[in-house]
Amino acid sequence: MRTAYNRWKKSLLALLVGLAACSSPDQPTGTPTAQDVRIRYTARRVVLPDVPQRGRILDRHDSVLVATRPQFLLQLPGRPPLDTLALGLLLGWDSTTVRRRIAEALPYPAARPGYPVQLRLTKAEAERIRRDSSATVPRLTLTERQRRVYTTGAGAPVLGYLSAEAQPFFRQARRTGRGRFYRLRNGGVETYYNGLLNGHRGYLHPLLDAKGQQHGTWAKDTAFQQGQDLHLTLDAKLQAYAEKLLGGRKGYLVALDPRTGEILAYVSAPVYPAATLTAPDQAGVRAELLEHEDMPLLNRPAMLANPPGSVFKLVNAAVALQLGAISPATGFRCDQSLVSCVHDHPKPKSLTAGLKYSCNPYFYQVLRNVIDHVPDSLTQDTVAARHANLARWRRYARSFGLDSVLGADMPREAPGFLPTPAYYDKARRTRGWTYRSIYSLSIGQGEINLTGLQMANMAAIIANRGWYYPPHLVRGIGKNGPLPRFTVKRHTLIDSANFAALVPGMVAVLQRGGTADASSLADVGITVAGKTGTVENDEGDDHAAFVGFAPADNPKIAVAVYLENAGFGATAAAPCAVLVMEKYLRGSIAPKRKRWEKRIQNRARNGY
Ligand SMILES: [Zn+2]
Repeated sequence: MRTAYNRWKKSLLALLVGLAACSSPDQPTGTPTAQDVRIRYTARRVVLPDVPQRGRILDRHDSVLVATRPQFLLQLPGRPPLDTLALGLLLGWDSTTVRRRIAEALPYPAARPGYPVQLRLTKAEAERIRRDSSATVPRLTLTERQRRVYTTGAGAPVLGYLSAEAQPFFRQARRTGRGRFYRLRNGGVETYYNGLLNGHRGYLHPLLDAKGQQHGTWAKDTAFQQGQDLHLTLDAKLQAYAEKLLGGRKGYLVALDPRTGEILAYVSAPVYPAATLTAPDQAGVRAELLEHEDMPLLNRPAMLANPPGSVFKLVNAAVALQLGAISPATGFRCDQSLVSCVHDHPKPKSLTAGLKYSCNPYFYQVLRNVIDHVPDSLTQDTVAARHANLARWRRYARSFGLDSVLGADMPREAPGFLPTPAYYDKARRTRGWTYRSIYSLSIGQGEINLTGLQMANMAAIIANRGWYYPPHLVRGIGKNGPLPRFTVKRHTLIDSANFAALVPGMVAVLQRGGTADASSLADVGITVAGKTGTVENDEGDDHAAFVGFAPADNPKIAVAVYLENAGFGATAAAPCAVLVMEKYLRGSIAPKRKRWEKRIQNRARNGY
């Protein structure tokens, strides 16, 4: 809207400038000669006849997901009675379908038929209506319009909507008091790449004399530009599969190709069909989505920043290694007087064992070595040392793309949060806070917040041993590649050797005795590296998290899963992640995990 307005304003301005140039013949634009001085010119704007076609949206294997096509709409009579039985017979729908389709189209549950209702029809159904020409059911109106048509139900927050077609949704959202909240965040690639998808018409700006002869131009001509196709990084089949695993649950799954930063699957659950927000006959479904307590319209992976829980031990370990606060061979006692340990396990004699058992006291002591270290120059001033150490920890952790937006190609992205020394000075009301009062950072709890994009990117960084390309959804625009910023490699402040030191522990997590050993894919020859996390939640059941990548020695996929109120990470999030890995790397699920897969899908359907 705003860009269209600006464009209009600019051309009006140009027109005024053009007219001003005409009335002061001493300074003509273009190429008039001295003899033309007394001729008055008229500024014209000529619109070239070609109308650009809006580009299509395709997945990474070039299957078309969204395109502008004719859509058939059947307008039901505004006043009852409506013979629904006859309508059903005419369209070949049973009575349940007729009732459901009308209910879905009504803008709020209390609305009754009588409110003007439109139904989307298939081409075959539209033909039946045309042939009948109102003989069986009078007062039906069939219209055909060019609209964005979705060929898939999957990927709703990725595909988004064409703003012009989403106006009824915006009005509904405003009425429920959630307009601003939702509108700004669900537009997907349709909104983000709107100008490129749309293309634009060509314009000429001639200066004409009274005889219609052109004397130069009063503004730069604009060449016609066809709408560009968007080639997504998304794998439509993997996306649909991942949506079936999360379905009606609450949480997210993000899968990346770590080598490129390309997003392979992006699930925000509860999921809803992609066409819902713009379809003329889905007002009833939209009303439910807007009121739903699980907030399905919240674009979770980009907008929700959560405490990462134990998966953050990976970042802390990498930073501690880089700063020389620990070595891979460092052992710590599982001293439960420091912090409780949920797992019963032997003493972790190395970083690998600490990760394998996800030992809380181990990582308490890892970060204590970082924060309480007093350099020689500050022997007396432990307060200053702690401030400097926390600031340094934060600088290294930030290099993972945390506490700032990653710059993904989405309308909005949350930055997440890593606390600063000043934050604690204020929150603890003293500069004299100690490690004891901030130790929850060591196990990824407390003030620290990461988005789903950042969680998946963190797994990709470890997979790459220290670098990443920003996660993105579009790998090709027309015949060109992605936006230039997605081809610039970013490096963390941590040496690759210190990332390599994390991998044995992550592999051990999915081996016998590890916190996610049941999710091993060893039977199909895939070594998965991962980390589980259980995030304490004061308001209900704990959240479950998992990040990982596979194959461990040559990573092709990195996945982050977060399930709200789901209990232990090992029993909830890890299976979803490894099923997506297996599907992507092998194309199918081994018989051994079929029952498991079914159980997860059933749970997803029931929303718990
Ligand atoms: Zn322990």
